Amino acid sequence: MRPAIYRTYLGAHFYVRARFVPDVHIPESHPRHRSLVTRERMAQLTEEGLVSVTGLIAHGRGEAFDYLLGERTVPEAETAERAAAALLSLARRPVITVNGNAAALAARELGELSRACGATLEVNLFHREDRRMEKVCDFLERETGEKVLGRRQDGLLEGISSDRARCTKEGLLAADVVLIPLEDGDRAEAMVKAGKDVISIDLNPLSRTSRAATVAVVDELTRAVPNMTAQARGLVQRPEEARDILDRFDNRRNLEAILERICKGLTGQASTDTR
Ligand code: ATP
Repeated sequence: MRPAIYRTYLGAHFYVRARFVPDVHIPESHPRHRSLVTRERMAQLTEEGLVSVTGLIAHGRGEAFDYLLGERTVPEAETAERAAAALLSLARRPVITVNGNAAALAARELGELSRACGATLEVNLFHREDRRMEKVCDFLERETGEKVLGRRQDGLLEGISSDRARCTKEGLLAADVVLIPLEDGDRAEAMVKAGKDVISIDLNPLSRTSRAATVAVVDELTRAVPNMTAQARGLVQRPEEARDILDRFDNRRNLEAILERICKGLTGQASTDTR
């Protein structure tokens, strides 16, 4: 007999306890279908040890900000994605650092982006254990068909006291441009201090990561990466245009515009609700 760990809503089974139910069915007609399917997948990959439990909490924070942005790529994000692609296309040694959440959500897309701009993929985990590291590296290699760095970490990022300082000399330490999807602020700031150009992908425009980045992409990872790949494919052929895009990009102004958009959306919504 199946344990009573789910309930039924509109004919679909929903996840209610910290336990994954593999045969959960979410009808495609459900208005939150995409988000719910993603949650199920994240829950499954947590069971499998790829995503950490705190990674699930970070995912929830991302969902909340995405909700405020209308779950779409806003024009400011498009501008940042173009600037990010320009930076990657001009880089000498670009590196994409990948954690459990980023691998679970967008491994294949990150593989495409790495090929489009010649970037190296390096795994870096907040909750680092040898077995989990092996698991995430294997998963990423299987999904992307690329070799990834991270199993052997022979370098340390200065200014970080935890295990998160660990990285590779060949990858992160030698990089001039680093893409950090879903990163925490400490590492982002340390990379900027180390003289690297940093591109973040983080739905929170207030995070230290977004504030510290050279280019902060405030968009959902699975939407942002394919946009960046499409832009990078063109810009690697047009370095002059890439430089021009970067000259015109202002990270602080772009983040302010996003905050303004969120505030306007909220006050607009509030006035509609109270009418
Ligand atoms: P900081 O240390 O930079 O101030 P933080 O404490 O929020 O930020 P984490 O908890 O490591 O750092 O956050 C991960 C970030 O990733 C969150 O800000 C969240 O909004 C963002 N995030 C989570 N899921 C996604 C996603 N799918 N796409 C884009 N961003 C996401």
